[in-house]
Amino acid sequence: MYYSKSPIYFLFFFISIANLLAQKPINVIFFIGDGTGLPQISAGNYVNDNHTAFEDFQYIGLSKTHSYDNLVTDSAASGTAMSSGMKTHNRVIGLDENKNPIPNILELCQSNGYKTALIATSTILHATPASFFAKVSSRYKYEEIAFQLTKSEVDYFMGGGKKYFTSRKDNRNLLLEDNTRTYVSSIGEFEKSSAEKIGYFTANDDPKTILEGRNPSLSKMLLATLEKVALQDSPFFIMVEGSQIDWGGHDNDIDYVLSEFKDFNESIQAALDFAKKNKNTLIVVTGDHETGGLAISGGEMENNKIKTVFSTTGHTAIMIPVFSYGPHSEEFKGIYDNTQIFHKFKKSLAFD
Ligand SMILES: [Zn+2]
Repeated sequence: MYYSKSPIYFLFFFISIANLLAQKPINVIFFIGDGTGLPQISAGNYVNDNHTAFEDFQYIGLSKTHSYDNLVTDSAASGTAMSSGMKTHNRVIGLDENKNPIPNILELCQSNGYKTALIATSTILHATPASFFAKVSSRYKYEEIAFQLTKSEVDYFMGGGKKYFTSRKDNRNLLLEDNTRTYVSSIGEFEKSSAEKIGYFTANDDPKTILEGRNPSLSKMLLATLEKVALQDSPFFIMVEGSQIDWGGHDNDIDYVLSEFKDFNESIQAALDFAKKNKNTLIVVTGDHETGGLAISGGEMENNKIKTVFSTTGHTAIMIPVFSYGPHSEEFKGIYDNTQIFHKFKKSLAFD
């Protein structure tokens, strides 16, 4: 007696199917502040009239950043944990603890029709961005990582490191070999290009610091990328890294940290402004670990002054906040391992 139930059930069934079909896939902008924990965010807040873009987020979580076998992670293991959902050894990218390759969220996005983009203020081959396309036993194999990037399905990327494509030990020029992508060297060329896949090199090696006058800003790079992806019908996943906050921490140079944090904070504000208009966008902001063991030991509220002390030139194991805004942002509240960030993205994008 299959059809004995009231027709109302069939109506409900069809309505829920129609709702599912009508649900547009969500866009993601994922921010990673390298070496950015609560001390860096607090310092950035106090020198900026007691305000950051972080205050606009709806949910806050904390992530445990230790790597597979080290209490203090590096950016490779932490990047892999967030991009691919597994704890691995420090210095390893895109491979599990037994060196088996593991799929990352960007690849899952690509096979689900997403446009994908990576933006960094380091080279684009540095550990954090590389965790979204590379599988290598050492983060320092930059030429191999460059090769893997040319073979990846990443649609848009922006960052330094051109020399690893053009001045290589094997004498190959990967830019000439890659006929899938257009390569440009200015933001203007990026904006003008109508190519489907574009690589924009911001520097031959590491990009300059903000204090040295790095240009364009992270927010300008993000807005140019948003403009490209917004033109298309596909949903998108963009990873934005404030790479050099970490380098300021390693140098125990608070002005370096704060200037890079300001650039990062402004790009987050730009994303929030976009997401408030485009309600289908999930924004998640976190760090991969804290750098410098930074403490704020004094200062003056009235004139945006802080007194700071660093306790190490390396990374620390303190838990790192995760801020989320937009559809499924509630998934990111609570205390969890950094590997859960991958699983939370997967669940939010309904890739299970
Ligand atoms: Zn570091």
